Amino acid sequence: MAKEINQLLKIYNSLSGSKEIFKPVLEDHVGMYVCGPTVYNNVHLGNCRTFVSFDLVYRYLKHLGYKVRYVRNITDAGHLENDADEGEDRIAKKARLESLEPMEIVQRYTIDFHETLAKFNNLPPNIEPTATGHIIEQIEIIKKIIQNGCAYEVNGSVYFDVLKFNENHHYGKLSGRQIEEMIANTRELAGQSEKKNPQDFALWKKAEPKHIMRWPSPWSVGFPGWHLECTAMSTKYLGYTFDIHGGGMDLKFPHHECEIAQSEASTGKEPVNYWMHANMLTLNGKKMAKSTGNNVLPNEIFTGSNEVLSKSFQPSVVRFFMLMSHYRSILDFSNDALLAAEKGFMRLMNAYHLLKKIDSSKDSSFDVQAWKQNCYDAMNDDFNSPILIAQLFEAVKVIHQLNEGFARLDSVDLETFKNSMHAFLFDVLGLEDITPNNQGEKLTKTVELLIGLRTEARLNKDFQTSDKIRNQLSDIGIQLKDGKDGTAFSIE
Ligand SMILES: [Zn+2]
Repeated sequence: MAKEINQLLKIYNSLSGSKEIFKPVLEDHVGMYVCGPTVYNNVHLGNCRTFVSFDLVYRYLKHLGYKVRYVRNITDAGHLENDADEGEDRIAKKARLESLEPMEIVQRYTIDFHETLAKFNNLPPNIEPTATGHIIEQIEIIKKIIQNGCAYEVNGSVYFDVLKFNENHHYGKLSGRQIEEMIANTRELAGQSEKKNPQDFALWKKAEPKHIMRWPSPWSVGFPGWHLECTAMSTKYLGYTFDIHGGGMDLKFPHHECEIAQSEASTGKEPVNYWMHANMLTLNGKKMAKSTGNNVLPNEIFTGSNEVLSKSFQPSVVRFFMLMSHYRSILDFSNDALLAAEKGFMRLMNAYHLLKKIDSSKDSSFDVQAWKQNCYDAMNDDFNSPILIAQLFEAVKVIHQLNEGFARLDSVDLETFKNSMHAFLFDVLGLEDITPNNQGEKLTKTVELLIGLRTEARLNKDFQTSDKIRNQLSDIGIQLKDGKDGTAFSIE
């Protein structure tokens, strides 16, 4: 089955601007690199969307039977405040503001990043390399680029010579920017920078005396330019030319354009066959930004502690909501949209549980194979999760018809239907079953049992026991509310 479907997988390649049939470099294997976070603050929701999008890609490739090596880096040095190689290192700045070691900042926010992505049920990558762990590799690449005439040293810093590179290559082919425009649009005044030309970018920067994250190199004690780490780590683990490189849309320029230039200038090879970019996330129709207050953090959604939300939402509901839009579309986040997604999610999960209880008939009145093919067609069309979800809602209708006796499936079809629903919901979309039908049911019964014991204690005027039950439940996040019709409870 997998083989037949593999040939049909099409991926929108940002480099060509069109959907292309996916053909990996090595049959049955896929090398995939995704730019990870710069770990200087809590991961924001827009980043989570990007990583959920590539988790979907990873899961689907695995589902098709590919052996995938998924590499996603952690940027723990070299990313300056300003993309034009200026300003303080983002991690060093945070360390200064909080009077901590830079590596304490890195550790804190790497843990936050992992915990948050785990809540979204993202699978971990196979390799998660760090920039600081690959300084030697980065220095080696700089040496090659200098040897090949595409970089120059000034006062201990090394810059990539974009104009020189462009004589034999095409700088701007990914972002569609023309080099003439880049020059015309620059506001940098001549003589203010060490660079020969403003569009050149840093491969190595000599450290100023107060810059604390520094390493020795042939040029100076300094630190690598931000774009270089991804070239070093992707080619080290995936080869000079690999299959898929992903990241957020905002990384297309300059970051990914520079990655291509660095690879071509050092190895002479095109580094990536399929460039994929996930689109951004807006909040109530506007760009998210801390400065304007139009911002919501993942943990605020899970606890409901942000005024843009009327309640808390489970991570799987948020994930489902994200996957209801195609990864290349802008996704607008709002309380109403989440409420609608939650309803849809519950309908799907309830139908899935209903399906498990349905018995087979002698024959079938529904074409399961055609439906299953539609699901694959959706995913094969550039990972079109919203169309897949629409197909799963078609299945919900059929499940209710089966339950009410208006449709029939023979044993083979029923088995296929159950297995496919399971595979698409949990393996491909990566949703988690959080309906009361699952483990929640046991929890509900247990809390109800404790409420019963507490009611009995109160009737016996044993308030010590009744208070103990209420307080200890409260300690673990289960709140009891006494009303006219008995005691209700809520779980945080
Ligand atoms: Zn990167």
